[in-house]
Amino acid sequence: MASIAFNRVTKSFVEGTTVLRQFSLQVEEGEFIVLVGPSGSGKSTVLRLLAGLESVSEGEILIDGNVVNDLAPQQRNIAMVFQNYALYPHMSVRENLAFPLRMARQSKQQIDAKVSEVAQLLGLSDLLQRRPKQLSGGQKQRVAMGRALVRDPGVFLLDEPLSNLDAKLRAQIRADIAQLQSRLNKTTLYVTHDQVEAMTLGHRVGLMNHGELQQIGTPEQLYGQPQNIFVASFIGSPGMNIMASTISTHTNRIDIHIGTQELQLPIAMFGHRKTPPFNEQGYVGIRPEAFSLSKSDHSIAVNATIKSVEYLGHESLLYFGLPDTGRDYQDGVWVARIKGKMLDTADTVVELHVTAEAVYLFNSEGVNITIET
Ligand code: ADP
Ligand code: MG
Repeated sequence: MASIAFNRVTKSFVEGTTVLRQFSLQVEEGEFIVLVGPSGSGKSTVLRLLAGLESVSEGEILIDGNVVNDLAPQQRNIAMVFQNYALYPHMSVRENLAFPLRMARQSKQQIDAKVSEVAQLLGLSDLLQRRPKQLSGGQKQRVAMGRALVRDPGVFLLDEPLSNLDAKLRAQIRADIAQLQSRLNKTTLYVTHDQVEAMTLGHRVGLMNHGELQQIGTPEQLYGQPQNIFVASFIGSPGMNIMASTISTHTNRIDIHIGTQELQLPIAMFGHRKTPPFNEQGYVGIRPEAFSLSKSDHSIAVNATIKSVEYLGHESLLYFGLPDTGRDYQDGVWVARIKGKMLDTADTVVELHVTAEAVYLFNSEGVNITIET
């Protein structure tokens, strides 16, 4: 087990492209951190820098308090699982698992004992004679994890380890990985572009965009207190509805305009969140799950023109427009998640009620003005 620190790490490639900017992150021993973000945001670069597969341009990386910038990969006691698994096709599962131990010149007894232990741990004991091509996707994935774990690395890195699997298997192996990590208590950095994986796996989640860490925190913090519009729209599915609006605060209410509707939000709706004096153009964000067909305490109502409904069994996704919404952030279509089956059809107008927790206000730069930053 090991702790990790990135101190203002920047990575530029020779052609002058900077793909990671002033990246700082502290990971405690045994912690499970997930880095999530769109493709190209710099997630794999973070792992490759930590593993020593790329060199740092500026800043420091520390493992257990020691700077490792100049250490070779094999001196860092780190194991990495790649998206494509990179198994040796001509070797059996047993040989694949044993390979890192053979390279480390361990004795045959040590190797046999460790391979059996890891095979047991990952449910691979009956597959040891098979070649990779005789394995299912999920089994290959487990062999790749086993091969990373045999050497008891201090740090375990996984780069999109589930992206080659179908949805059902992904959910299952996701749960296995969470269980394995809590059992082994190994410091883990896990990279994915999938916010569901991030939210379900990470003790803390770091959201990246354009080579910068947008926010790091518990899944609850990212969902409940997004620092900016990017975080607010990325976390949650479907993402938060966001619209340009004038926002003005008064003694006990905040007025917002969305389209031609003026909505008055009682300050009490914001609970413990801060409500600074504000009087300018900004953005309002409302989560799809915050809408309801029925009124509740402190709820406000909006008139929604239904565009389409998707019925998903336990809920319906209701796509709607607001009257004359003007300068929209999301092309004028909002979405609400409504429990059960929604019968109304296109072009009918319904009153949707918005509950307290989920109205967010952002300034013109997209910064959340209702949380402390
Ligand atoms: P992610 O894993 O989030 O998809 P990466 O860390 O792989 O993103 O890549 C971040 C950016 O760095 C991308 O724009 C990618 O094209 C660029 N990049 C990665 N490796 C190199 C390289 N060897 N030379 C130049 N640019 C690179
Ligand atoms: Mg990547």
